[in-house]
Amino acid sequence: MPSSPPARARFAPSPTGRFHIGGARTALYDYLLAHQTGGQFILRIEDTDQKRFDPNAERELMDSLRWLGIEWDEGPDVGGPCAPYRQSERKAIYQRHASELVKRGHAYPCFCSSDRLAQMRQEQQKRKQSPRYDGTCRDLAPSAAQARIDAGEPHVVRFKTPRDGQTTAVDLIRGPITVENVNLDDYILLKSDGLALYHLAAMADDREMRITHVLRSAEWLPTFPLHVLIYQALEWPQPVWVHLSVFLNPSGKGKMSKRHAAEAKGGVASIFPLDMRDEGYLPEAVVNWLALMGWSYDDHTELFPMNDLVDKFSLDKLTPSPAAVNFTKLDHFNGLYIRGLSDADLARRVQPFFAQAGLKTDPARLEQIAPLIRERIRTLQESVEIAGFFFRDDVRPADELLPGKGLSPAQAAVAARRALQIIEASAVFDDALEASLRSLAEELGLSAGEVFGLLRLAVTGQPVSPPLLESMRIIGKPTVQARIADVAARLESLAA
Ligand code: GLU
Repeated sequence: MPSSPPARARFAPSPTGRFHIGGARTALYDYLLAHQTGGQFILRIEDTDQKRFDPNAERELMDSLRWLGIEWDEGPDVGGPCAPYRQSERKAIYQRHASELVKRGHAYPCFCSSDRLAQMRQEQQKRKQSPRYDGTCRDLAPSAAQARIDAGEPHVVRFKTPRDGQTTAVDLIRGPITVENVNLDDYILLKSDGLALYHLAAMADDREMRITHVLRSAEWLPTFPLHVLIYQALEWPQPVWVHLSVFLNPSGKGKMSKRHAAEAKGGVASIFPLDMRDEGYLPEAVVNWLALMGWSYDDHTELFPMNDLVDKFSLDKLTPSPAAVNFTKLDHFNGLYIRGLSDADLARRVQPFFAQAGLKTDPARLEQIAPLIRERIRTLQESVEIAGFFFRDDVRPADELLPGKGLSPAQAAVAARRALQIIEASAVFDDALEASLRSLAEELGLSAGEVFGLLRLAVTGQPVSPPLLESMRIIGKPTVQARIADVAARLESLAA
């Protein structure tokens, strides 16, 4: 039973580039909060920045969220009671709220040209002042301003930030943040082309969409007081504000970046969920990993499938401290979740990776193979390296791998021939066969590892594989015999 009133939480990405794990974590927390309280998770696309707009970005972020199992209840493609969910389609709403702010005396039209503003900034820099609008249009008489608007003079709309007093903005996990208003700027709300900037668009949308919790990145902390002032100016009740922790590079130094992730050792070298998918990470593992980058339940529980997260998640256990991205930990979770999959599920999940490598598989055989690889792979992708031979016709160890570790060509040739005879005489590939092969090794003065290593090369074409006898059973006697016979012949000519 939900213990809190239903939350309406939104994830509001700007489609300006590839979708990374920072955004995915915010969306995950929104989703958890909404599901836990029986509320709604809303996806809103903040595409007002036409210059930075990337047409592929929206697709990627939706594909990423769906792959992770973070489905939205309302959004641009599924609709909902507050449609439209793309800011570029909501211009009239922002204009209405901008007019309301002007009417209430909390915003004003500003006619300063970009040249004038550039010059102003230059002079401020010379005087070592922080750049800030100097207020030229702040106190224009409304009638004079209206006359200029009517005459078609280009203008923006700025927020009329109070010049005195303080503003206190309260973040749920960071506590109150108080600033002197004199240190805030008269931020632009509407640009001269009538398009809204984030400060107005996001506040207006959160209000119109009845958002109860705003979870967003800590990069919005500097303008957080402005957002609170806009709410106050319009006499809107404030949502719960949460500024999430920042992700740091794996080294713990500096904000997470694509380049530094790529330099990290081990595991996936990308900060993009779709790359993780293509590398063979399970969405469950990525979700579990992400959930714990900024939230904890206690100091030891680490396995949290999505349904547990929905149960146990709580905003008050979020930490404001930055978290270093730890890809080794992701590998760890991926291993845990892979080991938790049933044979059929693992088979189903590795299938696309075999297909991608050009290998035709069949579900029944993949299911037989699943238990042999489950403990041996760190990612689904690795299953192709380790078990691709099951689906290849042209399995032959490379010349440089023969005669096999620790063996001379003559020893290897004899071992292969004798093993072939034993295998030919075995009706089934069971423990008795293994015992016979061990005795053969002893008889030839070789170690069991040397003989099994040689047979492994012959049957799988590779020095490392799933357990040999089980693999042979799946491949089937005729193929096993043919492969060993082929290697025996190659060794004999090598020995000659
Ligand atoms: N579009 C903003 C961003 O991507 C959203 C911030 C927010 O969640 O309010 O940074």
